[in-house]
Amino acid sequence: MSVKLLKGKQVRDQILSELRPRIAALPRPPGLAVVLVGNDPASEIYVRNKVKTCAELGIFSQNLTPSASITTAELLTLVGELNERPEIDGILVQSPLPKHVDEGRVLEAISPEKDVDGFHPINAGKLSINAKGLRPCTPSGVMEMLKRNNIDVTGKHAVVVGRSDIVGKPMALMLLHANATVTICHSKTRDLAAMCRQADILVGAIGRPAMLTSEFFKPGAVLIDIGINRLDKREDVARIFRGDAKKLAAFDAGSRVVVGDFDPLDAVEFGGAFTPVPGGVGLLTIAMLMSNTVTAAEARQTGTVPCL
Ligand code: NDP
Repeated sequence: MSVKLLKGKQVRDQILSELRPRIAALPRPPGLAVVLVGNDPASEIYVRNKVKTCAELGIFSQNLTPSASITTAELLTLVGELNERPEIDGILVQSPLPKHVDEGRVLEAISPEKDVDGFHPINAGKLSINAKGLRPCTPSGVMEMLKRNNIDVTGKHAVVVGRSDIVGKPMALMLLHANATVTICHSKTRDLAAMCRQADILVGAIGRPAMLTSEFFKPGAVLIDIGINRLDKREDVARIFRGDAKKLAAFDAGSRVVVGDFDPLDAVEFGGAFTPVPGGVGLLTIAMLMSNTVTAAEARQTGTVPCL
C-alpha cells in the first residue's frame, strides 16, 4: 500500500486564487488589522507571513505593534477603536499575549463580525449549532484539504486527539457537521492507542513531537497532522528521522527542524493518506484567514452575504 501525501501548496493556491475575483468584486479592498503585542520571534514570523499574503491578494492590512507592557485595559481600547473603523473588516490579535493580559477579555472584545480568527464565543457558539459564522482557520483548512482531495468523511470514524478551543474542539465539530462519527481524545483519555486505532481519519492536534507512531493507527487510515513541533535536541532528530543525514546536517547548521504529532516515517509507511509537516495543513491556516477576511468584508461591505 502506498501513502497519498496530502500536500498543502496546491490547495492553498486554489483557495487564494478563488478569493481574487471575490476581492475584485468588492466596493473597496478588504481590510485586516493584525495586533502583535511584544516581540515574540515566532509570532513575528507568523504576522509577517500574514501581512505578505494580504499584500499579494490586494487586501489592505495594518500591523499594530504595542509593547509587551500594554495593559488589558489599553488593549481593550485599541480593539474598541478597530471595531469602529469602517475600513477594517477583520481584526486578529496574535497569540500568545503576555501573561498579565486577560486574553479571554480581549478576544471577547473583538466584534464578532470582524473576528477573522473565529475565536469569539459568539462564533464558537455558531459553530456548535452549525450556523453561519467565522470559523477557526486551522480546522477549516483541514476540511478544505479533505474536500479538495475527495476524501468523503460521511459515516467515517474520525478521532481527534486534542481538545483546545482553537484547534481540537472546532475540528471535532466541523467533522461532526460533515457527518463523521467523532471521538475526541485528550491527555486523560484511557488507552489512547486503542481509541486512535479505531479511526478511519485520525487528527493529531496535540503538540507532542512524533507521538503518534504506527501503534496508534490502523494501516490505511487518513492521518491529518496539525502539530508543529520544533526539535531542539539532536538525539530527537536522529531518533525521529532514523538517522537521516540531511535532517541532522540541517539541525547541526542551526536550521529549524520541525516534526508534527505523527511519527513521519511510520505515517508514510502505514498510512493511507498523510499531511506532511511541514508542507501539509499548516500552509492552509493563512489561506483560511484570508478567506475569513474576504467573507467578513463581503458581509460588511455589501450587506448581502448572510454569513454572520
Ligand atoms: P494545546 O496545548 O492548547 O492543546 C493540546 C491538546 O493536546 C490538549 O487538549 C491536550 O489535552 C492534548 N494532549 C497533550 N498531551 C497529550 C497526550 N500525551 N495524550 C493525549 N492528548 C494530549 O495546543 P493547540 O491545540 O493550540 O495546538 C496543538 C498543536 O497544533 C501544536 O503543535 C500547535 O503548534 C499546532 N498548531 C498548528 C497550527 C497550524 O497552523 N497548523 C495552528 C495552531 C496550532 P488536555 O486538554 O487534557 O490538556
